Amino acid sequence: MTTPQAPAPHELAALRQRYRLERERRVRPDGAAQYRDADAEFGYYAADPYTVGPNRRDPLHDAVDVAVIGGGFGGILAGAHLRRQGVERVRIVEKGGDFGGTWYWNRYPGIHCDVESHVYLPMLDETGYVPEWKYAPGDEIRRHAVRIARAFDLYTDAVFSTGVTSLTWDEASETWAVATDRGDAFRATYVVNATGTLTDPKLPGIPGIEDFAGHTFHTSRWDYAYTGGTPEGGMTGLADKRVGVVGTGATGVQVIPMLAEDAAHLHVFQRTPSTVDVRANRRTTVEDVGAEQEGWARRRRENYLRIVSGESTDHDLVADRWTESAGLLEKLLPSFRRQGDRQAFEADYEAADAAKMNELRARVEQTVTDAETAAKLKPWYRYACKRPTFSDLYYPAFNRDNVTLVDTADTHGIERVTEHGVTVGGTTYELDCLIFATGFNVGTSGIHSGKLPVHGRGGVQLLHSWARRGPRTLHGFTSSGFPNLLQMGPLQNASSVNFTHVLDEQAAHAAALIAAAEAAGALIEPSPEIEDAWIAALADGAPDHEWFHAECTPGYYNREGRGRPAGPFAYPHGAVAFHELLARWREESLAEVLRTKTRTRTVLPT
Ligand code: NDP
Repeated sequence: MTTPQAPAPHELAALRQRYRLERERRVRPDGAAQYRDADAEFGYYAADPYTVGPNRRDPLHDAVDVAVIGGGFGGILAGAHLRRQGVERVRIVEKGGDFGGTWYWNRYPGIHCDVESHVYLPMLDETGYVPEWKYAPGDEIRRHAVRIARAFDLYTDAVFSTGVTSLTWDEASETWAVATDRGDAFRATYVVNATGTLTDPKLPGIPGIEDFAGHTFHTSRWDYAYTGGTPEGGMTGLADKRVGVVGTGATGVQVIPMLAEDAAHLHVFQRTPSTVDVRANRRTTVEDVGAEQEGWARRRRENYLRIVSGESTDHDLVADRWTESAGLLEKLLPSFRRQGDRQAFEADYEAADAAKMNELRARVEQTVTDAETAAKLKPWYRYACKRPTFSDLYYPAFNRDNVTLVDTADTHGIERVTEHGVTVGGTTYELDCLIFATGFNVGTSGIHSGKLPVHGRGGVQLLHSWARRGPRTLHGFTSSGFPNLLQMGPLQNASSVNFTHVLDEQAAHAAALIAAAEAAGALIEPSPEIEDAWIAALADGAPDHEWFHAECTPGYYNREGRGRPAGPFAYPHGAVAFHELLARWREESLAEVLRTKTRTRTVLPT
């Protein structure tokens, strides 16, 4: 953890007070209900602009070994590890027109991964690919997703522009019946759910969006037909346009400098400023990252995961602002806290956090020439209250004559969209184009959302079976009553800044379970007692994040200011410890979730 300049106690008290006031200014009584989904009359905002045309095919009525829901990195990695285990018929079902998941949908100008590409891109050792930039542009990442899919022959059975609409366990055949919105009705012995967590675009639920007469879209469905240009810029279609962008999160911070460059005028509607740290992107060579050596990517990724999981290391291979500031990531609090006295830890933590935030606020002042604009851009909350962002282009964009920052904190966001523009504090800003960089619904896709009903044994629905006591799983992967269903994602599993690493481990684990079940001729299903033991293990040492989130400005990290959901959510001791736990469990205890097939039993001679 870097400690730039520890603030004095009276400064800390003043900061605490300031943070409290900023939070109170922002919390809305309607919480997450302030947003609306991009569906029904707003379905236009979620339509796929990249794969147009009929894309006709006949409905499928066959049987596969594994159906994987989602063709982002989670699904692709599941497919790759299943191939390694010798599984033949793997059908990835993907809503987009190709593989890539978030990198398929998000193609906005300026898009880059803000985790180092040499640790973020999975399967670099396996594919022999060495990224060209420290922080890769989105298109390079999307192409890498396709590279892995090709390398593991995942196109053969994949279906695109297709959403799974229901999963139903069939006791007689002991397989899953999979239905889709393209009329498919096929069977799968196993289902892997890899639908991601931040996938469905959300819009502010304010009056008048439907009245806007200009052009409008969400950043995750960029309309290049209207703007012209590419993710590298050159949006000639905006040269005579007054553009408004709503949202200054990780997406807004990347897209705003590009819009500033190309629009006749840009209005940035900000509600809460992000922390925007140094980016220092640069081209890298094979030598820079030691890619001449076998296993380089695995070693680098493991080193990174140790640092951003709060584990000790004697060297930092990536050495960027994520690793330097890892000690301030709220997710790591339990890992750090268990290493020492809690009170002393929290005092040190607050001082280090304040020093970091002072440094970031000073960065605004040093870059933005107009004092009033600079004041609006300064973030007043603890470092990890919101997703940290990184850019060397963002603050300079506000020094341009064609960029206006409109702060909307006092009105809790933009108040109204009219036929001609956006209204804030009684002023209407006339616009030709309105772009929503307003993010995604959290956890509303896939089997945890209710939009994809999963009926297990006895027709019981997954979400109903969790309704009373909350989600129940073993390690986040499997649930009693839902045989051969493997869930990927952070729920009761691990989480990390470098989520593709976690997904890779999850995919390897899911594939190992399936291989073991195949070898034993068994079903995968934990007993309720095994689930209880896992829930108890999660609760033991679960982080009391509440004090942290209670002081944070609202956002999707704390359910818009309402705190974390009750109950154990993720493994509290970090991804490294979790991966070690899983490896031990595979060695010693995997058999505890293998259940004899009823179908096999009935055909066995008595
Ligand atoms: P976010 O949810 O982080 O940001 C949404 C933005 O919209 C916020 O600034 C929010 O303000 C603002 N907003 C919402 N409603 C209103 C309103 N009514 N009026 C004004 N402003 C409003 O979405 P992003 O797309 O930026 O990022 C989502 C996630 O995607 C990130 O957290 C990150 O995990 C991932 N991401 C990763 C990237 C990478 O490089 N790896 C790049 C981009 C995104 P407020 O903060 O006040 O709610």
